[in-house]
Amino acid sequence: MLVHWHRSDLRAPDNEGLRRAAERADGVVPLFVFDEEVLSYGSPPRVAFMLDALRSLRSWYRERGGDLYLAAGDPSAVLPDLCERLGAEGVVWNRGYSGLARERDEAVRAALDDAGIDHRDHGDALHHEPGSITTNEGEHYSVFTYFWRKWRDREKADPHDPPPAGALEDAGPGEFDAVPDLAALGFDAPEATVEPGGREAGRERLESFCAGDIYDYEDRRDYPADGCTSRLSAHLKWGTVGVREVYAATEEAMAASDGDSDRESVEEFRSQLAWREFYAHVLRFNPEFVAENFDEYERPIEWREDDEELRAWKAGETGYPIVDAGMRQLRAEAYVHNRVRMIVASFLTKDLLLDWREGYAHFRRHLADHDAASDAGGWQWAASTGTDAQPYFRIFNPMRQGEEYDPEAAYIREHVPELAGVDPETIHSWHELDPAARTEAAPEYPAPIVDHGERRERALATFERARGEGEGASGDG
Ligand SMILES: Cc1cc2nc3c(=O)[nH]c(=O)nc-3n(C[C@H](O)[C@H](O)[C@H](O)COP(=O)(O)OP(=O)(O)OC[C@H]3O[C@@H](n4cnc5c(N)ncnc54)[C@H](O)[C@@H]3O)c2cc1C
Repeated sequence: MLVHWHRSDLRAPDNEGLRRAAERADGVVPLFVFDEEVLSYGSPPRVAFMLDALRSLRSWYRERGGDLYLAAGDPSAVLPDLCERLGAEGVVWNRGYSGLARERDEAVRAALDDAGIDHRDHGDALHHEPGSITTNEGEHYSVFTYFWRKWRDREKADPHDPPPAGALEDAGPGEFDAVPDLAALGFDAPEATVEPGGREAGRERLESFCAGDIYDYEDRRDYPADGCTSRLSAHLKWGTVGVREVYAATEEAMAASDGDSDRESVEEFRSQLAWREFYAHVLRFNPEFVAENFDEYERPIEWREDDEELRAWKAGETGYPIVDAGMRQLRAEAYVHNRVRMIVASFLTKDLLLDWREGYAHFRRHLADHDAASDAGGWQWAASTGTDAQPYFRIFNPMRQGEEYDPEAAYIREHVPELAGVDPETIHSWHELDPAARTEAAPEYPAPIVDHGERRERALATFERARGEGEGASGDG
């Protein structure tokens, strides 16, 4: 008998480790451990999503005569104990790539070795393992385009079948008859309405996206009011859908496509899946990526400290409508549209010149889909400190971005109630209005807290100093 230790792979179908365990053993006990150390990095929306996923996973097993064994504690103590009690010969799990996950796994391996228990880990969360896509000289890529070309051309594995019902051992519910709620784990209720986290919800999103929006993805993915992206990020983070089944769904969409534009759109979606893998590879070989600038400048970047500006950014009270809409979507939904993530991140790191790590910490707390690799990747991109980053001199103009990507201000008006009754033209010229016109249009909504033009100049000068030079090309996005 083997134990399959579920972590960020909260599904039974298309699960590499689980499949391998079921092939090798005459019985598999699925296990999840509430690990205090890992939970100490958790946050209410993320843990809420995870608990939903666990409820759905447990139902899946119970409907097939098995159960999900739930334990709490340090996995390096829980796993050897449990194996001994059940008479299990070994433990199987799917690999994690962050520094924290790798440290924990190393400790678990050592504890299992001491207890004489077999252990194996498998690659499941990515199509291609870190280290398998490199330059011809064997170097890891730090530029996405080259990585993408190789990623795209590599063959992808088919989705795996779930283990047959006969392979499941029922070792009982473990320490929890019911999946605990947030309060039992020491978390407050999330401020946001978090989307349902179970596998059914993930499959539904995948199927509906691949039956329709995927064909508009290339043209419409940047427009937050359109909602035509997949919203699969939290499902991919928690593994409620498997990467192979996502890719297989894109193959079906490709087969059903009508013309080049449909096919290019499916390909564009695949390239976003590859971004996720690119950042996972970067983090695997650079564990400090979540805390340190990837791209080192000659001198330290002189980030400012300004509690009031940071507060206004977090609260969505900057007086820049698209920025405020994004920050409020974060608090309301534990999610932000990708284009708007880029805009709010640029605003924090360039207009306010506040350290990207402040933004990363805030996103980590509030996003249901927070993923160390993609979050650090996104922040470092916006801060011009990352791999393949936005050049420091290309600074988003938040008013222009709002006008271009939310022309009818539908997204802004949805998330900023003070502007709900204001016409798009007034919203998009908010920075130019005189105080009386602003008060008349939306008395509760603030004036811009900073002047973008001035702040842009200051950011350019700051980055140029960090580069050790006094000149540089410039362009306003
Ligand atoms: C500052 C910043 C922080 C971010 N933090 C996270 C994060 O914590 N977790 C996270 O999953 N994504 C993060 N992203 C990337 C991206 O914004 C989200 O993946 C995307 O908005 C999720 O919505 P979706 O599932 O509808 O995406 P879709 O457009 O449907 O994309 C499909 C999938 O591809 C992956 N993906 C798409 N874009 C990116 C990207 N730029 N980088 C990495 N993977 C990508 C995601 O897994 C996503 O679910 C961040 C981006 C920025 C700019």
